[in-house]
Amino acid sequence: MTSIIDETADAATSISSPARSLVCRGCGAEYPLAAQHACFACFGPLEVAYDQAALARVTRADIEAGPNNMWRYAALLPAGQDPATRVTLDPGMTPLVAAPGLAAELGISAPLWVKDDSGNPTHSFKDRVVSVALTAARDLGFTRFACASTGNLANSVAAHAARAGVPSIVFIPGDLEPGKIITTAVYGGDLVAIDGSYDDVNRLCGELVETDEFEDTAFVNVNVRPYYAEGSKTLGYEVAEQLGWRIPAQVVIPMASGELLTKVDKAFSELVEIGLVEAPAGGWRVFGAQSTGCNPIATALHAGTDTISPVKPTGIAKSLNIGDPAAGAYAIEAVRRTGGWMDHADDDEIRDGIRLLARTTGVFAETAGGTTVAVLKQLVDSGRLDPAAETVVYNTGEGLKTLDAVAGLVGPTHRVKPSLRAAREAGLLG
Ligand SMILES: *Cc1c(COP(=O)(O)O)cnc(C)c1O
Ligand SMILES: [Zn+2]
Repeated sequence: MTSIIDETADAATSISSPARSLVCRGCGAEYPLAAQHACFACFGPLEVAYDQAALARVTRADIEAGPNNMWRYAALLPAGQDPATRVTLDPGMTPLVAAPGLAAELGISAPLWVKDDSGNPTHSFKDRVVSVALTAARDLGFTRFACASTGNLANSVAAHAARAGVPSIVFIPGDLEPGKIITTAVYGGDLVAIDGSYDDVNRLCGELVETDEFEDTAFVNVNVRPYYAEGSKTLGYEVAEQLGWRIPAQVVIPMASGELLTKVDKAFSELVEIGLVEAPAGGWRVFGAQSTGCNPIATALHAGTDTISPVKPTGIAKSLNIGDPAAGAYAIEAVRRTGGWMDHADDDEIRDGIRLLARTTGVFAETAGGTTVAVLKQLVDSGRLDPAAETVVYNTGEGLKTLDAVAGLVGPTHRVKPSLRAAREAGLLG
């Protein structure tokens, strides 16, 4: 393992950050905490590594005394220890909703919970990753914020930039849902619709970031991606804390790049390593959900390989439509290591999943949440998921942004003229 750490580089981040370096997920090479996302030696993705002793000093009481948002975990994140430096809408501490009705409907006998992240400021879990990425980006000296987005990231980057008073430029596939375009454009900033898929957008952003004109620009999921990815850990920490400092036996998580899944698993591992929680007897099992229109990670797992064959995404779960998922192999590793599984749901199953969740829990999810609930159902039916073990299913986005998915399927159950007679005739009085 090579190490080219320059101790003085630590000055780039707050002194109290527990982050130590960037480490290659492929070959283990170590780099300073800069704006770098790929290994010079093997081109593998980089990940934030921590000073374990610093993490181990964190106590439950420290966290519980923190703000009622994701920054209560700042001591476990690479940036934002000093509140004055944060670029944030203060997301997090979203509800963990008990779902006995959904459990009964699916034949699950153990407690079932929905971690409902639709309540974040821009109504998806992306506010968590963007808050960490842009806080690190400003620490690193960037003066413009950008991203390649499947929809929710665009909302979040534009809103964070507006709050911070920093210019933004957001890149999206041209065929995004109107509900995601409007909710990005409203914050001002440049919004560039590309005539192509997310994977085309991402490739273009990878080229732009290398140009002199974009030298001042932090692309949250390109050049500052290692910091971005760490924000997803808070979805693991929070579930454990909300369960009374326990890790659930099973979690079901939607996958686009696969990063969120790997980071929830990493969060659970860290909590055990630093002594904040005990691992459940038998460990925890991680399950991943994709749509049938874009299922390269699940397909690779089912084929028994960890080589992902990129696909051309189709289908209504657009927020999950990454055909060439950057963290796919690591998601497969986490699922195999923990004894979980992955599955995929088609558009009709996704629509049914949205309605099932809404009708049994009062949570209206976007298509990604519908995908996850539909896959939960499949996992129970196939016997892959233990119905007698506690399970948390993640809803990562808000149904109001993808209204078209269910618009044709739901509506008034009765149409009645405004008179008692008409109400009686319509059967409203029994
Ligand atoms: C981006 C996104 C995901 C998946 O994120 P990855 O970390 O790329 O796997 C899941 N749900 C929603 C709603 C998203 O916007
Ligand atoms: Zn490497």
